[in-house]
Amino acid sequence: MRLLLVEDERSLVKALTAILEGNHYSVDAVYDGREALAYLEATVYDGVILDLMLPGLDGLSVLRQIRARGNQVPVLILTAKSEVEDKVLGLDSGANDYLAKPFAAAELLARIRAMTRSQRGQSGSLLRRGNLTLDLASFELSTPTGRTRLPNKEFQILEMLLRSPTALIPAGQFIETIWGLDSDVEANVVWVHISCLRKILAKLDANVRIRAVRNSGYRLEERP
Ligand code: CA
Repeated sequence: MRLLLVEDERSLVKALTAILEGNHYSVDAVYDGREALAYLEATVYDGVILDLMLPGLDGLSVLRQIRARGNQVPVLILTAKSEVEDKVLGLDSGANDYLAKPFAAAELLARIRAMTRSQRGQSGSLLRRGNLTLDLASFELSTPTGRTRLPNKEFQILEMLLRSPTALIPAGQFIETIWGLDSDVEANVVWVHISCLRKILAKLDANVRIRAVRNSGYRLEERP
């Protein structure tokens, strides 16, 4: 999942990026409101973490503008101010949730999971297909045979495949979501991680496999 972090406090950006990347998210960070709008125009994000007090254009204006354009990306507002009015104003302007600084990393992560989950109409933190279960909170992949904690890229690839069970996902879409639009990663890197994932699936006796469709992309298939 790709998140946009909008926050002008550089040390906080650094800390949050490390936490989010450590928890298997891909993160783009921007430091002011105008930059945030430009990124939201160019990329489809799975969620936005938006500070309210920003130089240039403030967070509420960013939020109102993207909602006015019909962008329904889940938005979690961060603010140092914990007054009730700010919370109400944020939620009325189209935010999905609100977190007052300072906050614990675990709470931030739980709220990101909740807001991205409700956006997708999903009710728990588990994705299932065949005999596979992927736990979005612990990154553990399990089958009746065993369980293993997936590395970052493998987790994100499998999560994307599980979320679109019938669709074919082109290598370019994995690159855009996981590595970012401006990365110079090529399709063979995706293939390397898919191979690794296939080995993990084989080790766990998964009855689901990743099928490569020539020149089109990848999809999950259940073995009969
Ligand atoms: Ca700020």
